[in-house]
Amino acid sequence: MTRAYNFCSGPAMIPTEVLERVKSEILDWNNIGASAFEISHRGKDYLEKVIEPAEHHFRQLLNIPKNYHVLFTSFGASHHFAMVPLNLLDRSKNNTACYIDSGIWSGKAIKEAQRYGNIILKKFEDFKSQSDYSYIHYTPNETIEGIQFHDIPKTGDVPLVADMSSEILSKPIDIKKFGLIYAGAQKNIAPAGLSLVIMRDDLVGFAKSFTPTLYNYKTYVDSQSLYHTPNTFGIYLAGLAFEWLLKQGGVEAITKINQRKAQKLYDYLDSTDFYKNSVDKKYRSVMNIVFYTPNAELDKLFVEESTKAHLINLKGHKAVGGLRASIYNAMPEAGVDALINFMKDFEKRYA
Ligand code: PMP
Repeated sequence: MTRAYNFCSGPAMIPTEVLERVKSEILDWNNIGASAFEISHRGKDYLEKVIEPAEHHFRQLLNIPKNYHVLFTSFGASHHFAMVPLNLLDRSKNNTACYIDSGIWSGKAIKEAQRYGNIILKKFEDFKSQSDYSYIHYTPNETIEGIQFHDIPKTGDVPLVADMSSEILSKPIDIKKFGLIYAGAQKNIAPAGLSLVIMRDDLVGFAKSFTPTLYNYKTYVDSQSLYHTPNTFGIYLAGLAFEWLLKQGGVEAITKINQRKAQKLYDYLDSTDFYKNSVDKKYRSVMNIVFYTPNAELDKLFVEESTKAHLINLKGHKAVGGLRASIYNAMPEAGVDALINFMKDFEKRYA
């Protein structure tokens, strides 16, 4: 068996070491004769050996202050597109929030928020905070277009909400600058079907009266994310991924590797006329690198040939076409080197 370098934007590559550990524990975890996800989520074993350490390690990795809750929610990031407005719009009297409109994923968050209140749209460059906003929402890394905002918008006293699905744990962040962060797990953490929330405690308790129980963040705060049966497998695997990241030296160490991986790929793209990347250099994503060969036929051939070379899932999102290399934490630097070598060879043959 050859494990491929998997450039999927999500569900993305999980570190081999983490999967090996799952393999070794799947039939008999901690000598109990069952796996970690065949036991009660309310039992001592699950609480003390899975969910509590997972939260502890996540807090440690991101240096999360005590006045922030960590929530494990058993669904994807898109659920939060509705949860955020339902929970936070009523902070202001006029039911108004500001959204930075920067691409396809922020667009989806906007569309959902517009069902519940007045949504003011701004571009990242011309955004200014206003005290009558309940919150300000942005998507620091637009996964589909490969756009990343490297500076955090200044929002004064207005809580900043971020969809960090495709950059969480890829670099250190100053949590205190945020009111609420949510992120789907399937890119930088664990399999799909789990998302994580970091929520400042003073923002809990503003949900609209008609908010369904499981869409109210307070439900998760009050129950240690155990109001209902959570995604026990996802949380178990997230915990292993956090331990793996700590072993790599944490977020500070991985950010250096991530920068180096992305720089190599962008340097190569800049050195050739065969491939194009059209993102403004100051907004280039460290996680998702979108590029194009000279035409759609060659893009298709690139996908076919790279797949045979065990470099898989390089097809771009259908909305933007071309090719996309998602190089999250679990992508080894050797995977990026292998991709660049393949690209050079492909260019030689088809330029
Ligand atoms: N936000 C961003 C930035 C994403 O990249 C994605 C998934 N690609 C989503 C939200 C949606 O996540 P999910 O499929 O988990 O709902």
